[in-house]
Amino acid sequence: MTAVEAPVSHLHENPFDIARAQLRRVAETFDIERNLVDVLSQCKKAVEVSVPVSMDDGTTHVFTGYRVTHNIARGPSKGGIRYHPDVTLDEVKSLAMWMTWKCALMGIPFGGAKGGVICNPKKLSRSELERLTRRYTSEIINEIGPEKDIPAPDVGTDGSVMAWIFDTYSMNKGHSVLGVVTGKPLTIGGSLGREEATARGSLFCIRDAVAKQDGRLDQMTAAVQGFGNVGSFLAKFLHEEGAKVVAVSDSTVALHNANGIDIHAAFAHKREHGTLRGLANAEEITADELIVLDVDVLAPCALEQVITERNADQVRASIICEGANGPVTPRADAILEDKGVLILPDVLANAGGVVVSYFEWVQGLQEYFWKEAEVNAKLNDIVSRAFEETWETAQEREIPMRMAAYGIAVRRVAEATITRGIYP
Ligand code: NAD
Repeated sequence: MTAVEAPVSHLHENPFDIARAQLRRVAETFDIERNLVDVLSQCKKAVEVSVPVSMDDGTTHVFTGYRVTHNIARGPSKGGIRYHPDVTLDEVKSLAMWMTWKCALMGIPFGGAKGGVICNPKKLSRSELERLTRRYTSEIINEIGPEKDIPAPDVGTDGSVMAWIFDTYSMNKGHSVLGVVTGKPLTIGGSLGREEATARGSLFCIRDAVAKQDGRLDQMTAAVQGFGNVGSFLAKFLHEEGAKVVAVSDSTVALHNANGIDIHAAFAHKREHGTLRGLANAEEITADELIVLDVDVLAPCALEQVITERNADQVRASIICEGANGPVTPRADAILEDKGVLILPDVLANAGGVVVSYFEWVQGLQEYFWKEAEVNAKLNDIVSRAFEETWETAQEREIPMRMAAYGIAVRRVAEATITRGIYP
């Protein structure tokens, strides 16, 4: 048996330290009681599992997986599962904490969780991926459930992975349990609009921010980092709204065309080749160059910590939309704030996914499914209301949008915790 080798990580700083430092700053600004901050600084539960998988070549690889619940004061915990070589327990904890704030900011009745397996899904065959997913699910089967903790897709996982989780859980229970996981394919109880939901929510936030600044999206340029679930659909939606998307990227290449990337061609190229490399009518630039392009909107939609104190002062965009979780480090945040850049923070800008996951969970529990227009309209209502609340709080208190969003969210979780009381 062999274990996976430790890769060079994209994480320059410990993300859980960042998440906890953010919480302490928010608590100071919003006068949240010290005892509560101590409670909210910790994750309720963290489970580490070993996941042995029979590989196609006859060997056995033992992968490491995690499932973390940060908080359940406002409802069952909810959060994606990440398959990536750089996954660490502290990364999963930080993502779980951010999920708690995200659900609270959106006003949906969930707490925060996250899961991950240290693996490179691109190097696994489909059947290896299925065996890994089914074994991981069975290792965490007592942690998840429709009233307890509900996983969803994140980096490196998709509808197929959710289908295997759903099936493994259901086989063990002896009946289909639709509410155990969201992001399922439509054929087995997924929700219309879920696949595009995160990007659609990001678009709503950009649209509302541009309107506040009396700008016009159809006169703006954008650069989008990452061409997976979030980045590809956000690039498409921005293009459909008339913005000129001048740069896109994935883990293999970054591409630029000052006249606009052909987004439909990029979708087709990525589908056919599995990479953006080789896309026609675009010149290669470096990943660093994409971040500092002279555009109106910069949307990091890949991984954490891509805008740091190293490159923040060179950023020329006036709006940063955090499609990814944690793409801007706190030190970069301070530099960007001084430059007057408007940051639409992750807990607001990428919350569309968990909102429609909530709709999927509700539809699954009721076994009654909604039209796509209904899903999108309800998503618009929730995201725009959260944007407005965040904007107003930021204006009133003269604080950045991130601080405002976290403040609203942490206060809601703190109030729920006080109302319930600390057991026993
Ligand atoms: P995904 O696996 O579908 O796509 C990730 C994309 O990022 C891929 O195109 C990959 O090639 C690219 N990428 C990886 N490393 C890169 C690098 N160094 N430079 C440029 N591109 C790189 O994942 P996703 O679901 O789109 O998630 C992306 C981000 O959005 C993550 O931070 C995730 O936590 C966050 N997010 C996702 C959802 C969701 O519903 N999927 C919801 C909220 C937040």
